[in-house]
Amino acid sequence: MAPADSAALRTAIVATAREMNALGINRGKSGNVSARIDTGFLITPSALPYAETEPDDIVAVDRDGAATGRRAPSSEWRFHRDIYAARPEVMAIVHTHAPFATTLACLDRGIPAFHYMIAVAGGTDIRCAPYATFGTQELSDHAVQALEGRTACLLAHHGMIAVGDSLESALALAVEVETLAETYWRALQIGEPALFDEREMREVLLRFAAYKRQSTR
Ligand SMILES: [Zn+2]
Repeated sequence: MAPADSAALRTAIVATAREMNALGINRGKSGNVSARIDTGFLITPSALPYAETEPDDIVAVDRDGAATGRRAPSSEWRFHRDIYAARPEVMAIVHTHAPFATTLACLDRGIPAFHYMIAVAGGTDIRCAPYATFGTQELSDHAVQALEGRTACLLAHHGMIAVGDSLESALALAVEVETLAETYWRALQIGEPALFDEREMREVLLRFAAYKRQSTR
């Protein structure tokens, strides 16, 4: 069950947003962070530097998209709402304009199975959702679709989304995706990396599932 709105969760959202910039996977005021609560979700506000964001600036948005708080919610609240609606297991969402992931996304390129860690996002690739204007329902629809069977996707000419069962896991996944994007970008500078075939990726995904079961025990 999702937790209730609390000062601790608001503080954790602010810390996660600051951490994504400290880790170099986001810069400035772009990106946003949210966590599911029993009535909807809590999300970072629009247009406020993370260093100046306080727990009381975090905005509560209900399942119908009605916001409560002293600030306006991030302009991307729609895809947060729709991801939580489509994916009951998702408890937190991190959206960043990570430089390497965004570079690939600007070429409408997702990340293929060039490295076994691609399985960290739940499948054999990380898709790139088609472009749509930021803040629109169209972008949200594309994002939900690109995330099907996955825990991360790129957004064409925009950035990336990583989801998880906690703020920590969503942030950690965003770091993994950016690392994969950077490695893929580097490999492309000197050639075209060979991709795993379906059989090998099935094996990798099985091992990831076993590893996950072990680590949650
Ligand atoms: Zn964005």
